[in-house]
Amino acid sequence: KPVIIIVVGMAGCGKTTFLHRLVSHTMASNIRGYVMNLDPAILTLPYGANIDIRDTVRYKDVMKQFNLGPNGGILTSLNLFATKFDESNPSKALEFLPGFHQCLNSAQFRPLSAHVISMIERRADELDYVLVDTPGQIEIFTWSASGAIITEAFASTFPTVIAYVVDTPRSASPATFMSNMLYACSILYKTRLPLVLVFNKTDVAQHEFALEWMKDFEVFHAALDSDHSYTSTLTRSLSLSLEEFYSHLRSVGVSAITGSGMDAFFKTIEASAEEYMETYKADLDKRR
Ligand code: GDP
Ligand code: MG
Repeated sequence: KPVIIIVVGMAGCGKTTFLHRLVSHTMASNIRGYVMNLDPAILTLPYGANIDIRDTVRYKDVMKQFNLGPNGGILTSLNLFATKFDESNPSKALEFLPGFHQCLNSAQFRPLSAHVISMIERRADELDYVLVDTPGQIEIFTWSASGAIITEAFASTFPTVIAYVVDTPRSASPATFMSNMLYACSILYKTRLPLVLVFNKTDVAQHEFALEWMKDFEVFHAALDSDHSYTSTLTRSLSLSLEEFYSHLRSVGVSAITGSGMDAFFKTIEASAEEYMETYKADLDKRR
């Protein structure tokens, strides 16, 4: 069965560039990948996608039709794409959301969850990985009904791993690092899936500092130094609470631009897929 890799992370951390890199790497190494773009607002996609949300939903029309700003347009496009369309009764969905059909590119529109899962299942023997790019703004995927539905649809059928991309140069200060790690932690809570920290842009800044901070809170505290402000005190105590979280995580340093760290990345994905089988899958089977 293919392993699903859902790429998430803060806007601008390099998700799309990283996905592009993963696509070139899989092609060069005879790894069989299937590529999905779930960002309806991207203008030009640097990689070739097997499934592109833009082929079905026109996000600009969604904005116009439903009177939304850019973020609302992206969120609504994703929601419509994932959930609102009743395959067995298309006219019902059109009644429910007047104007929706005007935003569609494809007449044979089907809901993503059912359609994509069955498509991947049919090709399961021919695929090693399914690579999923998500919208620039992280919360549109991680805090939306559609994001949860898509993630759960994948995770209930295939080994699924979250690749949490970190902008390493922008996480060099203890406060931004902590804020980024708390977000990663919240995603772990929400999805309960194996999570890999992908420290990106190591061509600009090495990620060793982050590894040290996660391994030894005293080094992290030393970085906070003589600062005794409220946030600094809070950051100190949070770092103690996060020890358990850190110890459970896999992390890898990469550069989406130069391509360094790709083999290490796929190794951590393999280990995470095993973790999925041992924990998440076992849990899922118990609940059934
Ligand atoms: P996304 O919003 O997370 O999809 O981020 P993008 O992939 O669009 O990248 C945002 C910016 O970061 C772009 O200007 C990229 O060229 C740059 N970028 C992405 N990955 C790297 C990297 O590994 N190294 C460097 N130096 N820049 C990167
Ligand atoms: Mg992107």
